[in-house]
Amino acid sequence: MLLLPIEAGHAGWLSDVFKSKPKPRHAAAPKHGVASRRATPRVEKPAVAKPAVAKPAAPGAAASKPVVTRCDPQKFRVLVDVGHTAESEGAISARNVAEFVYNLRLAQRIVEQLKTDGFTATRLLVTEGKARRSLVRRVDVANNLPANLFLSIHHDSVPDKLIENWEFEGKKRHFSDRFSGYSVFVSRANPEFPTSLAFAELLAREMKAQGLEYARQFTLPIMGKNQHPLLNKETGVYSYDKLIVLKSTRMPAVLLEAGSIINRDEELKMGSAERRNIISSGVAMAVREFCDSRWTILGPL
Ligand SMILES: [Zn+2]
Repeated sequence: MLLLPIEAGHAGWLSDVFKSKPKPRHAAAPKHGVASRRATPRVEKPAVAKPAVAKPAAPGAAASKPVVTRCDPQKFRVLVDVGHTAESEGAISARNVAEFVYNLRLAQRIVEQLKTDGFTATRLLVTEGKARRSLVRRVDVANNLPANLFLSIHHDSVPDKLIENWEFEGKKRHFSDRFSGYSVFVSRANPEFPTSLAFAELLAREMKAQGLEYARQFTLPIMGKNQHPLLNKETGVYSYDKLIVLKSTRMPAVLLEAGSIINRDEELKMGSAERRNIISSGVAMAVREFCDSRWTILGPL
């Protein structure tokens, strides 16, 4: 376990704002049995947090009642989870590249952007080992940190029955150009579901504002067990209630399917630095908005 200690500074104003009460470490025992040794997650060394600085009251506000208008990004712990593992790679792209590779590259870029934007407590979570155990380990890391926001990064494929064959660089490969686009998932079983949804909607709006289209296929019967209820048809937020990393995390948790890598055109776009920059900017803006003004958008939860 390479999880490094985090700052002990009191961030009560933040937990008040987010109605999220970080539990002490000993209270965050795993509920899902003993984790595999092979599934040891790697978490980036955290930046040294600066002491919490009391925010000055806004001009004209009563001096006895400090008004918090902005979060302190240095104290806001975003855990950016790289979907899948090197051993369980997730989907395979139209050009035979593992989803894990795409997830890792995009997640690294997102972390870089968040840190550049002042969210210096952001961590990248790379998990090892087999799929299911790695999911439990991700939840344990997030709950023990505890993260203020959990964001899992994935890239999409299609059900096997939609796969077609083609040849790329002289080899037989699989593809489906039928669907494309990003999608954002939350679990209604997450204890912070309303706040998860608030971030999901901010994120989806930012993706849309960047000119990206959301994937519309998840409500279609052809998706079979991958069918999911669409919670926001304007921006593309779906629920995925049973997903372990979304339901068992005790903080707002969102999964971003950044785009389809089984789609031949979209795979090329997802592989470009330009697309990674666009998505990272959108994520960073959504995190900033979430951190600064969630309560002014939704009101008290
Ligand atoms: Zn995935």
